[in-house]
Amino acid sequence: MKKLVQKARGLLTRAGLRHGICGLKEIEQLSRLPEFRDFQVRVYNKARQNMLSLKINPTETERILSLYYHDKHFDVITKDNAFLGHSFYCTKCDRTYKANPHVCETRKCTQCKDFCEPSTEVIKCEFCLRYFKGHDCYDRHRHYADDASLSTCQKWKKCKVCYLDVSKDLQKEHVCFKSKCKNCNNTVDIYTHKCYIQQAKLTDNQRKKRDKKMGRLLFFDVESMVENDETVNEPICVVVQFGGTGQEKLFEGVGCVTEFCECLFEHCEQNAEPLTVIAHNLGGMIYFSF
Ligand SMILES: [Zn+2]
Ligand SMILES: [Zn+2]
Ligand SMILES: [Zn+2]
Ligand SMILES: [Zn+2]
Ligand SMILES: [Zn+2]
Repeated sequence: MKKLVQKARGLLTRAGLRHGICGLKEIEQLSRLPEFRDFQVRVYNKARQNMLSLKINPTETERILSLYYHDKHFDVITKDNAFLGHSFYCTKCDRTYKANPHVCETRKCTQCKDFCEPSTEVIKCEFCLRYFKGHDCYDRHRHYADDASLSTCQKWKKCKVCYLDVSKDLQKEHVCFKSKCKNCNNTVDIYTHKCYIQQAKLTDNQRKKRDKKMGRLLFFDVESMVENDETVNEPICVVVQFGGTGQEKLFEGVGCVTEFCECLFEHCEQNAEPLTVIAHNLGGMIYFSF
């Protein structure tokens, strides 16, 4: 532990930082040190709905250091896809995908949206006002259509005020220097905007129906231990909390998951009311009803 603290202090000094609490700015400075040059450093931020706030160093590397920034603290994320609740997630193009193999969007040209052969020449299009990386790039943007109806030229236009490339479906609602929050659907200043999970809009009848179907809620989280060969995750603790009463239960030690499941079945045998069990981040999110 002492050695780790010493090493951490050494890194801070070399990055020209004071020893103390680190924020995003400090992590960015640390990431630029030679030690981290081959790592893609990624920081997800709780204050921005767990969105990616920092992505530093090469995208084309397999060496990834992902962090979760919350309450002035950084935690290491071992699997980005599990953290984001997806089966497959590409840290190069930052998109989810359904199955392997994945055609990575980073290989696509940002200008023509196709796989062009760029040159150093810059060509401006008079129709969409965007710039292209040579003739191949320009030609492709005039003809290539990713959704088979509109070409890139018809779909993407440069805003004459803020110079942002805006796609056709967002042109009506585009407000310069503001963007749409995917969570609450409002047009906001995304750098200062804070919002969390939105409440479902339900009528009284829909709410009653939902409550009847879900019955009692039960939340659980499993903590596990990594074995020596680092391939097996051994569950060692299950924490359970009932919705409504807040009553808690703890299952400890090897075999805790079996005990937890037995307890679930026992509960269902004794109670006619449905029970909805919600896991906290069990390899993504698992949700099942009894
Ligand atoms: Zn990709
Ligand atoms: Zn191109
Ligand atoms: Zn164009
Ligand atoms: Zn604009
Ligand atoms: Zn929002």
